[in-house]
Amino acid sequence: MTANSSTAAAPPAQELAITRHTFDEVMVPCFSPAQVLPVRGAGSRVWDQAGREYIDFAAGVAVTALGHCHPLMVHALAEQAGRLWHISNWFTNEPALRLARHLVEHTFADKVFFCNSGAEANEAALKLARKYAADHHGPQKNGIVSSLHSFHGRTLFTVTAGGTERYRQGFGPLPSNVQHVPYNDIGALEAAVGPDTCAVILEPVQGEGGVNPGRAEFLQAARALCDRHGALLVLDEIQTGMGRTGTLFNHEQKGFVPDILTSAKGLGGGFPIGAMLTTSAIAVSFSPGTHGTTFGGNPLAAAVAAAVLQVVATPQLLSGVRSRAARLTEGLRELGLRHRMFKEVRGEGLLIGCELNPDFAGRAADFMAAGSDAGIFFLMAGTSVLRFVPALNIPDSDIDEGLARLDRALGQLRS
Ligand SMILES: *Cc1c(COP(=O)(O)O)cnc(C)c1O
Repeated sequence: MTANSSTAAAPPAQELAITRHTFDEVMVPCFSPAQVLPVRGAGSRVWDQAGREYIDFAAGVAVTALGHCHPLMVHALAEQAGRLWHISNWFTNEPALRLARHLVEHTFADKVFFCNSGAEANEAALKLARKYAADHHGPQKNGIVSSLHSFHGRTLFTVTAGGTERYRQGFGPLPSNVQHVPYNDIGALEAAVGPDTCAVILEPVQGEGGVNPGRAEFLQAARALCDRHGALLVLDEIQTGMGRTGTLFNHEQKGFVPDILTSAKGLGGGFPIGAMLTTSAIAVSFSPGTHGTTFGGNPLAAAVAAAVLQVVATPQLLSGVRSRAARLTEGLRELGLRHRMFKEVRGEGLLIGCELNPDFAGRAADFMAAGSDAGIFFLMAGTSVLRFVPALNIPDSDIDEGLARLDRALGQLRS
């Protein structure tokens, strides 16, 4: 017997019940999760600890693109789980290479870098843009132009690129030479981009910032300004990509091609993965040793993402997004009119925002809570916009049932 096994640990403590209250006891309080605690999901339905069922119009913040526990994803994960979990980037692996090949086939890109989240994908993109500029033009060309109300992640660099001042407060000193212009303002962009700009970073639809669709002319102007000044256009498609707006990536609908594209959220359908896509000419600025990751390209994540991409990058799924979007948008417009609660219903594809009337401004969190009470999950985008980002394959019957429950929630809030 070893010393360890003879000094047996204390008898197993009575396992304490896990409840929503446990969050307040043991979790860093940077979130304030809903009172209900989901334990299971299937398709666009979720069940909580008490066995109550919910329609899911939130999809884990536009992540569970194929709904919960899609059989192809479950199969891909289980299959890979019995084969190889992790090998690091000291080796490459088949699932990552397969996924990269599919991404390259379906996009403008020649090369892919994998990571584990959206912020990491944008972090890589911004570092690459600075490195590329340093390689080709010199270190003075390091300016980054972003937009107000944009969201690019929570690392120090990406939170600096993001257009929400509050998210940066208290974290200084911040990376320097990053400026923000009003979104969709071509004149402001022209004034900001110059010879010392290395990158312009934009979302083609601002998600977190309130569901603000980017105008094609604005995005094309950004493309032209980048070309004129030798800057790279970084397109953050973390929320808009992977079929969310009815094409694999949103820029396909807006007549321009970026230099670097970032993807995450829906890419893994619920398994954490991020990707940065770019051209061969730009990719070479990341030579071995300049950037890296331990987990990026993990075989489990890549195997699941390949299964997701196989379903999403099909005409059936993408046209289905457009018809579901029309159904949901129409239903939301009808509810907004009847309850006189929405100032505007806007968005692209299944990324839909309902801006609350002045009477209800600032109360989006109350709507989410009332929704949860009525058996429907959705999100907010700022305090005055309700955000609906269901699974891309949500059945029409779940859309209708979700709208009926939302109708009840809105009635509750009005009274
Ligand atoms: C969610 C999001 C991010 C950050 O992704 P994380 O995985 O949370 O790091 C970045 N950009 C956009 C547009 C997003 O919606």
